[in-house]
Order: sequence, then structure tokens, then C-alpha cells
Amino acid sequence: QPLIELDGLRKTYNAGLPAEAEVLHGVSLRVNVGEFIALMGPSGSGKSTLLNILGLLERMTSGSYRLQGEPVQDLDDTELTLRRRHLLGFVFQFHHLLPAFSALENVTMPFLMTHGHVNDKQLAHARELLDAVGLSQAMKKRPSELSGGMQQRVAIARALVMSPPLVLADEPTGNLDTASSDEVFVLLRRMHAERGVSFVVVTHDSRLAARCDRLVELVDGRIARDEVTPPSGV
Ligand code: ADP
Ligand code: ADP
Repeated sequence: QPLIELDGLRKTYNAGLPAEAEVLHGVSLRVNVGEFIALMGPSGSGKSTLLNILGLLERMTSGSYRLQGEPVQDLDDTELTLRRRHLLGFVFQFHHLLPAFSALENVTMPFLMTHGHVNDKQLAHARELLDAVGLSQAMKKRPSELSGGMQQRVAIARALVMSPPLVLADEPTGNLDTASSDEVFVLLRRMHAERGVSFVVVTHDSRLAARCDRLVELVDGRIARDEVTPPSGV
């Protein structure tokens, strides 16, 4: 069933100002439950803007967006925040972990933000996720004590802790060396396979994109390509 139904999305920055610019010119995209999609395109083609709109971090100028069947374009900020917390996980190029907190505290942070406290069941779930991303020995470590790849794995555990149906990742391996990139990518694929989470992953790495199930390419604010990726035996 459809998770995302985006129709005729247009986005204009600086509306009404001299710098006014339309950066997405009528983008339509459907994402079904369980898909693992690579989003590619040259720098400035609108990938981050599209991801931010899909992630309810930014509003569109016109068009319609249904998330799990619900039209979201007219919801107020409070409603959007609720949807964002429960339906979406985010992984960014830079991990955005809180430096003063341990890996485990960082992973439980979404519960704290949403409910104001963390109960035993939630704590157990966070531990289980850190274990699943291979960090059972590093739960008490602060981000600065972890390698870049390990920091990204903490960020992935945090993105998954509320069990969202969809995770949006903006160049999650963009800041990593090849070996750590591969590890992080394999981990995303494993979370997809084992937990049924859908992923939209922005990447500049065509080698990794070839290992996604579907490739969507933006050029100059339009979808220039949208095709199923041939199986690659990963
Ligand atoms: P990509 O992620 O593909 O590099 P972006 O979505 O970041 O593309 O940017 C698409 C275009 O929109 C670029 O021309 C960029 O300069 C512009 N842009 C992005 N964010 C803003 C903003 N907040 N204000 C004005 N222009 C923006
Ligand atoms: P990337 O190309 O890796 O997506 P950018 O360096 O283009 O990243 O953009 C980084 C951040 O700055 C993004 O949040 C984007 O929305 C914002 N941004 C990009 N271009 C502009 C712009 N012209 N004016 C204001 N903000 C911008």
C-alpha cells in the first residue's frame, strides 16, 4: 500500500522577494510500504528540499502530499510535529548526536522528547537496537569516543527507535570512508529487511545506489529518472 503519495509538488524559496526561485517544478512520487529507494541527482537539483518536504520539515508551495493516506499539506505545525515523531526517522550526513550524552541516551532521546520520560520497555528497545547495529559494547560511550561509522550507527538506531514506517536519510555515508560507508549501507539494508522499514536514501555514490531497489534521479527540480534497480546479489 502507498506510504507516500506526492502529486505536483512545487517549491519556491524567497517567495515575493527579488531572490524568488522555484526549485521543484511539479514533482510527483509514490512510495509503497517496504521500498528502499536511492535519490540521486547533481548538487542543487533539489534532493534535500524534496527530502525535507517528505520529512515534514519544510512546507511545499503547492501540490498535494498524502502520508499513509492522510493529506498533510494543510496540517498545522503541532500536527506536523506529531506525524514527524511517529511516522518518520531521520539520518543526516553529519550524525547530529548530542555530544554530552552517551550513545544509549542519544538513542532514547526521541522517547524523552515525545513522552517526557523513558520507561523500562523503551530503554530495553533502545539497547536492543544498539545491539542490532553492533554497538552493544559502546552504549555508554559519548559520540566523541566513537568512530565516524559508529556515530552513524548510533544515529541509525536513534532514527529507528520510535519504530517509524519510513526513514529518510540525506547522504548518510557522505562523510565516511569507503569501508565505513559499506558497513553503514549494509546496516540500512539489514534494518529494511528485518524490520520492514521503508527507506529513501539520498546518495552521490552510484555504487551504493545500484544496491537499492529503486533509483529516482532529480535534475533541475524535476524527476529525470525513476526505475527499478536490477538485482545485484548484495
Ligand atoms: P541538493 O540537495 O540536490 O543539493 P537542495 O535541495 O539543497 O539541492 O537545493 C536546491 C536549490 O534550492 C538550490 O539552488 C539551493 O541553492 C536552493 N535552496 C535550498 N535551500 C534553500 C533555502 N533555504 N533558501 C533558498 N534557496 C534554497
Ligand atoms: P547539499 O547540497 O549537501 O544538500 P547544501 O550545502 O546545498 O547541501 O545545503 C545545506 C543547507 O543549506 C540545506 O539545509 C539547504 O536547504 C540550505 N541551503 C542551500 N542553499 C541555500 C540558499 N541559497 N539559501 C539558503 N539556504 C540554502
